[in-house]
Order: sequence, then C-alpha cells, then structure tokens
Amino acid sequence: RERVGAEAAGTRPPLTVLAGPTAVGKGTVATYIREHYPEVSLSVSATTRAPRPGEVDGTHYFFTSDEQFDRMLAAGELLEWATVHNKYRYGTPRGPVQEASERGELVLLEIDLQGARQVRASMPDARLVFLAPPSWDELVNRLVGRGTEDSEERARRLETAKVELAAADEFDEIIINDEVPRAAARLIDIMRGTPRSANG
Ligand code: 5GP
Repeated sequence: RERVGAEAAGTRPPLTVLAGPTAVGKGTVATYIREHYPEVSLSVSATTRAPRPGEVDGTHYFFTSDEQFDRMLAAGELLEWATVHNKYRYGTPRGPVQEASERGELVLLEIDLQGARQVRASMPDARLVFLAPPSWDELVNRLVGRGTEDSEERARRLETAKVELAAADEFDEIIINDEVPRAAARLIDIMRGTPRSANG
C-alpha cells in the first residue's frame, strides 16, 4: 500500500487535535472528514451523555455510564478527558489512537480545549489546530440556529466560548470555519504536512 513520506522515513506522522469554541462546527468538520477522507483515523471518544438521534454507538461516540467512565479512568485507558459545559464527561480512549498511530495513519482528535491542553502536555509533538468562527455574531447565529440547547444552556455555552476564543494563540494553526469542505481540506493539508502556499 502507499506509504506517507513520514512513515517511509521511519517516523510517525504526529497526532492532530482539532479544538475550538462551542458551536463553531468542529463536529460538522469531523463528520465531513469521516465521510470524505477515509485515510484519516478519527478518534471515537467515550462520553457519559446520551446519544442524540442518528448517533451510532462506536461510530460517533462510545456511550458509557458514569461507572464505565470511572473504570476507564482508573485503568488509565484515557489519553485525555474533561467535563464539558459542567455536565458530561468525555475522553479519548488511548488504545485505538496508539494502534492507528503505530500503523502510520493520520490520527485526528476532535476534543474540547481542556483536552487539547492535556494532549499538548503529554504529547509535545501533537499538532493543535484551532477552528475559529468567521465572527462572534456568526458563532451566536450557529448556536441559536442548531436549536439543540435552551436559552439558559446557550448562555452558558457562549460564556465558555468567549474564554475559549481567547485561547486561539496557544494553537499551532488556526482555521476559519467559513465553509466546511474548505476547512476540512485545509485541516487535511495540515495533517499531511502540506505547506500553506501549496493551496493558497
Ligand atoms: P457534543 O456533546 O456536542 O458531541 O460535544 C460537546 C463537546 O465535547 C465538544 O466541544 C467536543 O469537542 C467535546 N469532546 C468530544 N469528545 C471529547 C473528548 O474525547 N475529550 C474532550 N476533552 N472533549 C471532547
């Protein structure tokens, strides 16, 4: 099979983290990548929240109980984890990430800012990519438009988003999520190590 340059040279491509504020569209970009770039190994997180309509256990998340999550934590099975929006716990299972990385695959983690910081601390080679909204108003529009949160929850998430936006400068790369296919293509270029000048 075709080998990526880094693998052929005997080094593994670094793991890539995609983070960004609430409602910026990280999930949408991740879904686009799952559907259009099968060469990317997208990490499937464990979460204590319930599945939304259409979400498949093992594909979008591993839906776990609090007890199962505690067990994974105690066993050291999570590469990083966080309580997101003061509510549910989310974490990246270590095993699949390690295995994909050993196979030389491009590995992507779509996680929150707290998780991104843990990855930075434990894996200094990881590439951190920040997905930013075109503007603050657009971020608010997206959160209201998707209609999955009530107004109290929206206010809470916007507070978090304000803090999160200020963290952009901790990241290696920033992608403006104006159009999902374009943002996804840019992310893939970064993962493959293609210089910015190569695609404008
Ligand atoms: P949602 O419940 O809308 O799918 O995700 C809520 C938030 O949890 C998103 O910001 C998403 O990036 C984050 N998230 C999903 N999986 C993980 C994970 O494994 N670790 C961390 N730290 N955050 C995650």
